[in-house]
Amino acid sequence: MATIIDAHNHAGPRYGAGQTGDELVAKLDQTGVEKAVIFPFVEGSFSNDVIHEYAVQYPDRLIPFCAVNPWDVDQAVPELRRCVEQFGFKGVKLHPTIHGYHLADHGLVDPIFQAARELQIPVICHGASDLFNTPLEFAEMARTFPEVPLLMAHMGFFWSVEQAIEVSKSLPNLYLETSRAPIFEIAKAVKELGPEKVIWGTDSPFVDYEWEFKKMVRAADSQEGYELIVGGNIARILGI
Ligand SMILES: [Zn+2]
Repeated sequence: MATIIDAHNHAGPRYGAGQTGDELVAKLDQTGVEKAVIFPFVEGSFSNDVIHEYAVQYPDRLIPFCAVNPWDVDQAVPELRRCVEQFGFKGVKLHPTIHGYHLADHGLVDPIFQAARELQIPVICHGASDLFNTPLEFAEMARTFPEVPLLMAHMGFFWSVEQAIEVSKSLPNLYLETSRAPIFEIAKAVKELGPEKVIWGTDSPFVDYEWEFKKMVRAADSQEGYELIVGGNIARILGI
């Protein structure tokens, strides 16, 4: 059995719903998940330091990604570099809807992708069929930066799943991440794209953790495909 890795979790303090490293690791233990990618909640001002803190606390369980806001034009790239070069972060999270920009706004967002390309890290981006991050915006960035693995979080759920599958077909570096998407649409994506393009994530703490994992047993027809989706693909991308 391949290592089971959850590619989408938020950690740190947040008004309304927060999650500590301890709380997340307890969920992993309870569910039989080995590792989890963590990044901050990005509403308001946020810090990547707490992510570093949790990753140091659980080096074998938690995989740190930073989050940056491209509108912090002087800060976003230096902060990304600090996290990767000083702390060993493995990727970067973007949230165009919360921060108010188009993912394919080249002037604003290209510097982040250029840094990701140079640092050889993947980008995971909120992609729930909102105005600012439609599948076509993902396609534009994936085409412009073919060396950068790009994960579409929520795979275009609600209204853009069909389009998400369509654009991912011709772009080897554009992956669909399954958090909060219904299992019948995930299974459809796996059927059309193959299991190597689909990556499991939960979006904890905003989900029932156990069931967000259990639904995945219906994602693929083969054990081999299942193992790629729940860990093999993200392990390959991260080189772990
Ligand atoms: Zn999320």
